[in-house]
Amino acid sequence: MNVAVIGSGTMGNGIAHVFAQHGFAVSLIDINQPALDKGLATIGKNLDRQVSKGSLGADDKTATLGRISTYTSLSEGVLNADLVVEAATENVELKLNIFREIDQYAPETAILATNTSSISITRIAAVTKRPTQVIGMHFMNPVPVMKLVEVIRGYATSDEVTAKVMDLSRKLGKTPTEVNDYPGFVANRILMPMINEAIITLHEGVAGVEEIDTVMKLGMAHPMGPLQLADFIGLDVCLAIMRVLHDGLGNPKYAPCPLLVNMVMAGRLGVKSGEGFYSWTHGTKELVLAERFQK
Ligand code: NAD
Repeated sequence: MNVAVIGSGTMGNGIAHVFAQHGFAVSLIDINQPALDKGLATIGKNLDRQVSKGSLGADDKTATLGRISTYTSLSEGVLNADLVVEAATENVELKLNIFREIDQYAPETAILATNTSSISITRIAAVTKRPTQVIGMHFMNPVPVMKLVEVIRGYATSDEVTAKVMDLSRKLGKTPTEVNDYPGFVANRILMPMINEAIITLHEGVAGVEEIDTVMKLGMAHPMGPLQLADFIGLDVCLAIMRVLHDGLGNPKYAPCPLLVNMVMAGRLGVKSGEGFYSWTHGTKELVLAERFQK
């Protein structure tokens, strides 16, 4: 079975990695060669980690890499695909254009999946001539490690396609969970309001950054607090998803916290910008509060 993965960034290289590791032939597609090289280098590093931990043989690493071909042309990359998994940048117009193009070049029988975190599957499906074969396949970061695949049925997705994608996810060693296509699906519908509420709690002065994260870490056994998690996800991503929930569900309880909006406007996006609720530029593994949140 041939799988085409569109985008070789954080998620795309992880998705290509798990499909190739489980014996699928993978066509990895991105807009330029440096992006593909970077994706392949990450896959190589992550496979090395599996080999050094003993969860993968050295031969399996070579075989996995041997199953991945790279393409800078979308039309060529999807030509023989039985399944396409799109993991390009989270932008509606970009994804709609990609799906129009895939629909034109991928075999008529191919299933078209998207790894979008927040864009409506139904909207994406509607620009294709095969809406029954369009589905959400929402992997979690880091893909080789995280067990969940949130399988999202669009308005028109068929039972047969859903069953195939559930089955394929199991073949990757994942646990698929079927959900319907409404804003935020299930993962972000629950996670993002929790993060937003943590930011509101901070904004209202109920407690400081460390106190909020400690309560959730030690009190609820979360591996990290919601504010640290927000820094990892990117505050711009958190804000964009809150806007999707607010617009799509029309309930004021989803309004993004003004502090989150201000931080994004100020370019304080978390790990990727060097500062969010914590500072990420000091070069140690310790959590250091951003200056603004120090007491
Ligand atoms: P990323 O920025 O790391 O990677 C996106 C890649 O897409 C880049 O390499 C870019 O060059 C490529 N790209 C852009 N336009 C393209 C095109 N027209 N054709 C081919 N490739 C193109 O982003 P990411 O974090 O990997 O996110 C990808 C998708 O996965 C998004 O829809 C995002 O919402 C979703 N997602 C992300 C996470 C996460 O934690 N990062 C988790 C779940 C889902």
